[in-house]
Amino acid sequence: MDKLAIGIARGGNIRIYSVVSTKLTEEARVRHDLWPTSAAALGRTMAVNLMMGAMSKNDKEKVSIQINGDGPIKTIMTSSSNSGNVRGYVGEPHVMLSYHDKNKLAVGLAVGSGFLNVTKSMGLKSDFVGTVDLVSGEIAEDFAYYFNVSEQTPSAVSLGVLVETDNHVQAAGGLIIQLLPGATEEDIVATETAFGKLLPISTMINNGATARSIIEDLFEDARVLEERDVQFKCECSRQKMMNGLATLDTKELTEMIMDDEIIETVCHYCQEKYLFTPLDLQRIVDEREA
Ligand SMILES: [Zn+2]
Repeated sequence: MDKLAIGIARGGNIRIYSVVSTKLTEEARVRHDLWPTSAAALGRTMAVNLMMGAMSKNDKEKVSIQINGDGPIKTIMTSSSNSGNVRGYVGEPHVMLSYHDKNKLAVGLAVGSGFLNVTKSMGLKSDFVGTVDLVSGEIAEDFAYYFNVSEQTPSAVSLGVLVETDNHVQAAGGLIIQLLPGATEEDIVATETAFGKLLPISTMINNGATARSIIEDLFEDARVLEERDVQFKCECSRQKMMNGLATLDTKELTEMIMDDEIIETVCHYCQEKYLFTPLDLQRIVDEREA
């Protein structure tokens, strides 16, 4: 099972989030038929989204991320909450780009330049939206910038996905270290030192690191406050898809009924298919006329 952990260090002046998301990233890879660079881009974004979900104190709050760039991936959409569920998709699943000099997936090139947008919504309450320009499209740097600028929380962010040559996801996860308002100059230096010494997060996870050990190995006094399961889980349902069909106007629905074919709708987030018969559509029209 994939895990997320929340910890503190340096007398409570530093908060740490870590996530091992290998299985859920592999599930997304299979569901969306992702090629390596698309898998890395979505995997990194889902990892940061899970950790942002865990920052929320309210169970009802949903954190959604939208990244729009001019690279071949086009968009990355994910959403999560503090339940540990995450879902997501990319505009173009079939992207394979790597940097020539290093044997490294070129997520920055695949995303390109553009912006990232974070929406926090709580049921009927108005949404909080923060938007920043992308720094590099590599996702971790972009979110470090987002936390600093949009949430005024100085943060170090590491995200990584290791994809094997047969395209399966071998390791995925992330780490966020945040300086709380009481942080001193020494805390800042200690954070920079600890962060600078880290191996790439996907290498750590591939070597056997857990969400807990990633936190505990960072600082001498680091301790884990909470650990929870995380998974790829969509919120779609047959009823929600039906509601989507119900937004079509009667003329369109009638044409579809006349075609007398099974309608297949696919959820963008998870690729789940839902089938509707002409009779199902007729029911929507009948309810309107009743
Ligand atoms: Zn779905």
